[in-house]
Amino acid sequence: MTLHDSFGRQITDLRMSVTDRCNFRCVYCRSADPENYRDHDEILSWLELDRLAKIFLGLGIRKIRVTGGEPLVREGVEEFISRLHALGFPDLSMTTNGHLLAERCDRLLAAGLRRINISLDSLDPAKFERITRTQSFSKVMHGIDAVQNSRLAPAKVNAVLVRGLNDDEVEAFAQFARIRGVIMRFIEFMPLDADRHWSRELVVPAAEVYERIHARWPLVQIPHERSETARKYRFADGAPGEIGLIASVTQPFCGFCSRIRVTADGKLRTCLFSKEDHDLRFLLRDGASDNDLVTYIRSVVNEKEEGHRINEPGFVPPSRTMVFIGG
Ligand code: SAM
Ligand code: SF4
Repeated sequence: MTLHDSFGRQITDLRMSVTDRCNFRCVYCRSADPENYRDHDEILSWLELDRLAKIFLGLGIRKIRVTGGEPLVREGVEEFISRLHALGFPDLSMTTNGHLLAERCDRLLAAGLRRINISLDSLDPAKFERITRTQSFSKVMHGIDAVQNSRLAPAKVNAVLVRGLNDDEVEAFAQFARIRGVIMRFIEFMPLDADRHWSRELVVPAAEVYERIHARWPLVQIPHERSETARKYRFADGAPGEIGLIASVTQPFCGFCSRIRVTADGKLRTCLFSKEDHDLRFLLRDGASDNDLVTYIRSVVNEKEEGHRINEPGFVPPSRTMVFIGG
């Protein structure tokens, strides 16, 4: 069985958020103000997540990414990953801020995790602190070290670039990729921040990042799958490491999107920028059968929006911000 939308796109990629909680407060994601986390009973239980994962596997989902909030703050995430592994997802990965990674890396690996993305928005500890509002720089670096010394290597290291904040570090990040052999990915800032500070002027276009790195260390494009969000490059001089550019704002890849999301409170989202989400939790708790869930998921996916419309006049960001969606 496969999942398709009305534009003929096959959906093979699922992001499951296991918590809306986070131990960081990145300026482009959460607010500095206290937030009301959802009560624990509003968040899907592991049993409910297991059931959904199995249904989605049956519907042709091949790539599953565990995310949040910060997935490592929810107890039991390794066991969940191990159950996803046992179910047989061909591609099983996680996105984390890295704070708890050094001490959990071995357990994640043993659970069956094979790929990991780690957020790192500055190589300067003081700036890292301003962006994440934490003092976790060295913990994250240790997390990256742990991954690089394990079978999870190479780590994908994600930086969201914000003009005037960390865009002066493009070359430093590229050098980091070369020295450490990581896949350094630059993500354009999207209008999903809790403080609603996003503006087009704050977006650092992927094309600019490419030009700057290419001028210093010529890049060679690596072929990519159509549905992949990143344009990938290696260094022409044969240095280790890789560069990934994710141009969600300036060169949207919606036409090839193969992705859906389940939020921590059990809502199905067909686009990061969906105006509405669809209540799987209600069905799960109302006695729906697997067949009922399959029928519902199919009908929701069929209505997946054509694109995100960030670049259209009158664009309104979704009410849910990134930490409550799951990136
Ligand atoms: N807490 C984990 C982390 O930070 O890696 C996982 C969840 S986080 C929401 C997932 C990804 O979304 C991270 O790579 C983060 O940098 C990215 N992200 C958050 N807010 C964003 C925004 N406004 N624009 C672009 N990417 C964003
Ligand atoms: Fe937390 Fe990740 Fe959002 Fe940063 S980007 S506040 S680490 S969820």
